[in-house]
Amino acid sequence: PMTIPFRGPAGQETTPYLLTPGPLTTTPAVKEVMLRDWGSWDADLRAVVSSIRSDLLDIADASQGFECVLLQGSGSYGVEAALGSFAPKNKKTLMLTNGAYGERAIKALSYMNRDFISYETDELEAPSADEVAALLKSNPDVGAVFLVQCETTSGIVNPIEDIAAVAQKAGCIVILDAMSSFGAMDLSMKRMGIDVLISSANKCIEGVPGFTYILARRDLLEASQGQSHSLSLDLYEQWAYMQKSGQFRYTPPTHTLVAFARALEQHKAEGGAPGRLARYKKTAKALRDGMRRIGLTPLLGDNETGPIIQTFATPRDPNFDFTRFYEGLKQRGFIIYPGKLTKKPSFRVGNMGALDHEVMAMLVEATEATLKAMNIKDLTPAE
Ligand SMILES: *Cc1c(COP(=O)(O)O)cnc(C)c1O
Repeated sequence: PMTIPFRGPAGQETTPYLLTPGPLTTTPAVKEVMLRDWGSWDADLRAVVSSIRSDLLDIADASQGFECVLLQGSGSYGVEAALGSFAPKNKKTLMLTNGAYGERAIKALSYMNRDFISYETDELEAPSADEVAALLKSNPDVGAVFLVQCETTSGIVNPIEDIAAVAQKAGCIVILDAMSSFGAMDLSMKRMGIDVLISSANKCIEGVPGFTYILARRDLLEASQGQSHSLSLDLYEQWAYMQKSGQFRYTPPTHTLVAFARALEQHKAEGGAPGRLARYKKTAKALRDGMRRIGLTPLLGDNETGPIIQTFATPRDPNFDFTRFYEGLKQRGFIIYPGKLTKKPSFRVGNMGALDHEVMAMLVEATEATLKAMNIKDLTPAE
């Protein structure tokens, strides 16, 4: 079990709780390790880089035949790098999207002028494996399928295992944005047939922002030499350099790396992904039940939503104003996230990070107090 930081009377925490989908609340131990400086070529840092790479492969159940490349930047840099290295140039990529992150990946692919077709479902609806099968059948020129595991726009979880099976059967490689799910939700690259996976330092492993990581089949990585559209984002070159020297090409995010190594120790101590998932599920349930009890409405059903982030409908009461609501919660020690849904007015609360169900109970109390202070009576969802 982990120590939850900054427990105390609401408003007296030394930092606010970040209930956001990354950056998120980290433990004091993770912050503490950043208090010294690290040389980028030093053997100590190279050992950190090496252990991070092998730990990530273990978590993904990808120790055999896969490689891990660390890259400076946030998760979007990783998605763009992976598409640049693995989206085929002479074939199309099928892009699945049901939210802002799928859309962003499509935009990245458009920037590099690669051919694609897209399959879009509503932000509150998961894509269907049958539909993917039909699309791949009628488009034999598709060579890769891109999808997001947990679309952080709403918190919905997409059926990656079924879709990966269909893609594999059609001879396509599978590129998975597992940004907000890796390290918590069930994921085995080997068993599920995921060829390329992308995540970043500041999501479920609970580190601080600064780098992204791409796990990929070794043969694909070897074949990707010369494929990238970008020097800095060239995964083959980054990997080859890392293999040769144990270092990043170009300046590494030193403090983020040591913080991440500490976060990985905590991840292991919690029981790996299953242990983390158990805590997130408990946290998510406390949040959803608590918000329902005070009259707020989650937008996704209990079976559709993941344990990563929860979306709630904005109350229709004319006194409701998101900025004032946000400020009220901030004064009480909690930072939440605006909604990202294009159609329904909403706000989001992240479950990831060094938090537990008791923090969520405190948040529910703070939410009730804030709504009362704003004189909100009608909590019916706004249209
Ligand atoms: C966080 C996230 C990303 C990356 O976003 P950045 O702002 O670049 O970190 C990509 N996809 C998903 C699903 C995410 O949750």
